[in-house]
Amino acid sequence: MGVCFRFFCHSISNRDKACFMIDLHTHTDFSFDGHATGEEMLTKAAELGLEAIAFTDHVEMDCYTGPPYYSDAAAAGSFTLYERLKERAPVRLLAGIEAGQPHYAPEVTAFVLSAYTYDEVVGSIHNLRGMQDFSFMAYEDASDETIAGWLRDYFEEERLLAESGLADILAHLTYPLRYIVGDFGRQVDLAAYAGQIDAVLKAVIRNGMALEINTSGLRQNLGVTLPDEHFLRRYRQLGGERITFGSDAHYTKHLGLGLDRGIAMAKQIGFEKQCLYIRRTCTEVPLG
Ligand SMILES: [Zn+2]
Ligand SMILES: [Zn+2]
Repeated sequence: MGVCFRFFCHSISNRDKACFMIDLHTHTDFSFDGHATGEEMLTKAAELGLEAIAFTDHVEMDCYTGPPYYSDAAAAGSFTLYERLKERAPVRLLAGIEAGQPHYAPEVTAFVLSAYTYDEVVGSIHNLRGMQDFSFMAYEDASDETIAGWLRDYFEEERLLAESGLADILAHLTYPLRYIVGDFGRQVDLAAYAGQIDAVLKAVIRNGMALEINTSGLRQNLGVTLPDEHFLRRYRQLGGERITFGSDAHYTKHLGLGLDRGIAMAKQIGFEKQCLYIRRTCTEVPLG
């Protein structure tokens, strides 16, 4: 068996090439921006030889019932989908949720997290308080100072999220860069935020969370994982051990994309294991 953990391997060929490809951040069409059914995602996961996937549909806690997210229907629909598919899924299916801004609305978050038996809670910040999602904003007319202020606020909110205990996994640490740098070509030197990012990483470690290596940036204009290698090295230096991988796929064609590159990078940095969450507890499995 070598380094493979028998329980998670489905076939001889998978053992040889794709053991422990686990995608813990994926979306179905119960997300407002999802474009694939749960069945389609599972079929694709089996085709790719993934060992497990989690459905982590968007529930934006700070605008729980309103458009454009319609989060109440997403939470109920996504979990019902999981329950309907889990027994006959061709790969292991985990019950997840991408909780947006959970610490902005802790009572709503507590309500949702108590209503469903999740395996994992992915914690994200998509917007600053009272503002729209970074993905909806236009940056061409914003001054460098304005953007710097948004990023200072963002990393402070990331720290507060990590301290909140409301999530198991800190998602896409450098999310605003996907748009500010990747889509709008504005220059951002994250060295200016190194102290703040250290505080986030230390909070992740102190609170027993996992840091997500979100591979979506590899297929997008940004061209790197979120966070990138530099901050993953820093996380490791600070004592970080818990990591997860997520493609953040909203289409079947993006499922599992970049996991191999992310795993190779993590190994090079010195990580040896990844977390698979069951009932909100990290089970460490090899990287592959
Ligand atoms: Zn997200
Ligand atoms: Zn996502």
